[in-house]
Amino acid sequence: MFSSKGMLLVISGPSGVGKGTLVRMLREMDPELKLSVSVTTRGPRENEQDGKDYFFISREEFETMVGQGRLLEHACVHGNYYGTPRDYVDRMIGEGKNVLLEIDPQGAKQVIENQQDCVSVFILPPSWKELKERLTGRHTENPEQVEIRLRNAREEVKTLRMYRYAVTNMNGEEGKQAAAEALYAILKAERSSTARLSVEIPEE
Ligand code: 5GP
Repeated sequence: MFSSKGMLLVISGPSGVGKGTLVRMLREMDPELKLSVSVTTRGPRENEQDGKDYFFISREEFETMVGQGRLLEHACVHGNYYGTPRDYVDRMIGEGKNVLLEIDPQGAKQVIENQQDCVSVFILPPSWKELKERLTGRHTENPEQVEIRLRNAREEVKTLRMYRYAVTNMNGEEGKQAAAEALYAILKAERSSTARLSVEIPEE
């Protein structure tokens, strides 16, 4: 009687806020959620798999995909290029599946502007102090890079109202759990949106 259109869920937020962890938790809560695997020009890290974590491609291949309009959005993040392949997203949405994008705020802006029925969530840190500690604590950036990311974060938070929702990723296991549950609640509520439903009403 009812069929529901697939939904595009965009999760974004500043570097270091914990998007990756929340996405992992959300996918455990909803194994039916399809994660879009991005293309990137950065090299694979240890224990990253091509085709699972990212499609690792050359700068030339990336430029070709952009030129052919094969990316739904793309951005240069900390010196590397990233993009969302359009065909996978279109195919999954067409099949009525819900698709998750975990992307930076530049890419999120493009998706929000071009796909008005997408559901967008901005992840906030509990405080600026905490964001700095998370960026410093992961030891993947030097102090200068941490400062650049914090400066970018200030600009990104200014764009908060472009998103439909904001969720704060609080400290500790409980904080993370609460944030993941908030994301799951958004997903469930949006899935029940009448805008996404088509209803068949038989003739008498
Ligand atoms: P990392 O290199 O640490 O995996 O990711 C760096 C940043 O790039 C993260 O903020 C991540 O969300 C973002 N990112 C990953 N894939 C994409 C994508 O397809 N498009 C955009 N715009 N950002 C992405």
